[in-house]
Amino acid sequence: SLALVLVLAGTSVFAQQKMSKEAINKKVDALLAKMTIEEKVGQMAQITLDVIGKGKDRYTSDEPFSLDKKETEKALLQYHIGSVLNTSNNRARTPQVWYNIINEIQNVALKQGKNKIPVIYGVDEVHGATYTAGATMFPQQIGQAATFNRALVKEGASITAYETRASAIPWNFSPILDLGADPRFPRQWESFGEDPYLVSQLGVQMIKGLEGDDNDVSNPFKVASSIKHFLGYQVPVSGKDRTPAIISDQALREYHLPAFKAAIDAGAKTIMINSGLINGVPVHANYKILTRLLREELGFKGLVVTDWGDIENLHKRDRVAKNNKEAVMMAINAGIDMSMIAYNYEPFCDDLVALVKEGKVKQSRIDDAVRNILKVKYELGLFEKPVTHIKDYPKFGSKEFENAAYQTAAESITLLKNTNHTLPLSKTAKVLVTGPNANSMRTLNGAWTYSWQGEKVEEFAAKYNTIVKAIQNKVGAANVTYLPGVSYKMDGKYFEDFADKMDETIAAAKNADVIVLCLGENTYTETPGNLSDLYISDLQTELAKKLAATGKTIVLVLNEGRPRVISKFEKNMSAILQSYLPGNFGGDAIADVLYGDVNPSGKLPYTYPQFPNALFTYYHKPSESRETTEGVYNYDADYNPQYVFGHGLSYTTFSYSDIKLSSNTLKKGETLDINVKVSNTGKVAGKESVLLYISDLVASEISPDVKRLRGFEKIDLKAGETKTVTFKIKPEDIAYINADLVKTTGEGEFTIQLGNKKVNFNYTP
Ligand code: BGC
Repeated sequence: SLALVLVLAGTSVFAQQKMSKEAINKKVDALLAKMTIEEKVGQMAQITLDVIGKGKDRYTSDEPFSLDKKETEKALLQYHIGSVLNTSNNRARTPQVWYNIINEIQNVALKQGKNKIPVIYGVDEVHGATYTAGATMFPQQIGQAATFNRALVKEGASITAYETRASAIPWNFSPILDLGADPRFPRQWESFGEDPYLVSQLGVQMIKGLEGDDNDVSNPFKVASSIKHFLGYQVPVSGKDRTPAIISDQALREYHLPAFKAAIDAGAKTIMINSGLINGVPVHANYKILTRLLREELGFKGLVVTDWGDIENLHKRDRVAKNNKEAVMMAINAGIDMSMIAYNYEPFCDDLVALVKEGKVKQSRIDDAVRNILKVKYELGLFEKPVTHIKDYPKFGSKEFENAAYQTAAESITLLKNTNHTLPLSKTAKVLVTGPNANSMRTLNGAWTYSWQGEKVEEFAAKYNTIVKAIQNKVGAANVTYLPGVSYKMDGKYFEDFADKMDETIAAAKNADVIVLCLGENTYTETPGNLSDLYISDLQTELAKKLAATGKTIVLVLNEGRPRVISKFEKNMSAILQSYLPGNFGGDAIADVLYGDVNPSGKLPYTYPQFPNALFTYYHKPSESRETTEGVYNYDADYNPQYVFGHGLSYTTFSYSDIKLSSNTLKKGETLDINVKVSNTGKVAGKESVLLYISDLVASEISPDVKRLRGFEKIDLKAGETKTVTFKIKPEDIAYINADLVKTTGEGEFTIQLGNKKVNFNYTP
């Protein structure tokens, strides 16, 4: 058959033997033995492409080009640089241009370099091959989390790996395993949300998708992943990027560590370090975290890379090192293997060589670091096949891949509110579509899309459908009026918007049967995404209120990276959809949900706050909801969210019944089977994410969390259908980190919650 021919052709193109661990170790040792200290130190430096293509944007077309010969030879031959990252001029490239760039770099390294060591090229391909023109864009991780669908997350990562390799890139700075527990943080959307179990489960799926089930990254359809940002990155006190966090050791282990531990156990090849400070100590200089915890306790055997410029930051920003050289000493001795962007690679390399000669960094530390770097280069097969080419990747940008991205977007969309069955809409209704997010491919995608802050999305995504276009496609342009009402400034001031035909919009509302109001945020990530006010913008609030005053039915579509507070007008909205950052197929998916062609099944992967001063995760302590001997307080600052974690409605209804346990008592070494019947009691088919929560009723010393997610399964149910879902729980699955930092399962009573049903069991060790 044709498929067989293709499979055979595929294997012959890539006739590459996976090397055994022992064979790789032998090769690494043999290579290390021939390397000078200068050659070793060069491997530990990673530079941006701009350094060797200096000043000129040589890569804007598919024309043949050459690197800046002098700069390239200096970096690769004189300084033996081991790694290059990112794209020049902050712009996506076609696969052919990527090939040209990387092939040329590899040619210099392999043909002219003394030791013939390939460069390892790394890029942030965080929701698809985001720096490749024509690649398939998935929802950002926060939307993927809302699907609660492990298979979709794995498939998306697998497609990302394929298209990344189709772009000649073998190393992906993904997934983000930070806990997205603070909506003020400008990268919450890059995470899988606030729950440690959800982040762990989906992180493992993403690693399997990127690296393969067996982590055999010599497979040319797989890439090395980089789990980031180790550890505790997303919860600084100020809510702002790269600022100090205060996290107790107990909390670090209870909430932030599990996803990294699970990823390391799943074989993740590389790890990137948290750029910030924890308890006053920059993580890049923290021996306890980088060596004791990561290497000795978790047994991580892969490559440790810094985040951007973070060695220099130890001196310049954090002031724990009196100069750059001391910063290098601290970071390398703490456990860093590779520096992403040193102050300048020349002095970095010179300083590190000097530190070794002065005995301030041990030769053995350098050998370990270089061993970790060379090992991953061998594992990726870069010595034999230093560059891959688009011609061997026929499925790049295919319909099959696009369907997977669409499916993920469709399953991510979360119906937060649907008063009196406002949705689905009638296809004959006259609809006014408005708001700054209604007609933007950029806001559907978010940052890290064809560019860092998403600035270049419109240039590359013109062929996809914005929300307005998708609605027009579905119900005919004659039924749709589009007016922005409010628009975003496109001059780099990411949070500024302006009234754009607001009066005309309000006037047009009077002639519409229904208003689809698309609000949210413009794109941002990292420090440019820092925010001082979590309320959705004043102008968007004004637009919502003025539209509400017309008395028309309003469907609010949110398209935002983090939950911006909407409590000033939420009560005036008849229906609300959260779309997160759904990617290139988000417009289609939103339109399909609005008109009932897709039954929504997303659930919130975070708590949606109602007040900017009441930011809680669902697993807060009972004392935080102020239930005391004097009664229940009802302050705004108590846990009183707009919508709880896990909230998400459907066009059908589900009922939970018959929770059955294999025993009322769980004992040490045993497994508890929990069965529950879930029925679709409505009139249409639907998907339901069944979330298993367990509460430890009394813990010792550490106050227990109100409840914790300990399992989830997504099921499909036809109208009238019932399925039994089974969860298996072991004592360690319901454990917590005690005050002595030991993982313990508390003796006594626990409550299981499934839907609105509860049942108790006991644990006896
Ligand atoms: C980000 C990382 C990213 C790196 C390379 C840093 O600024 O924090 O997440 O992988 O840049 O682009």
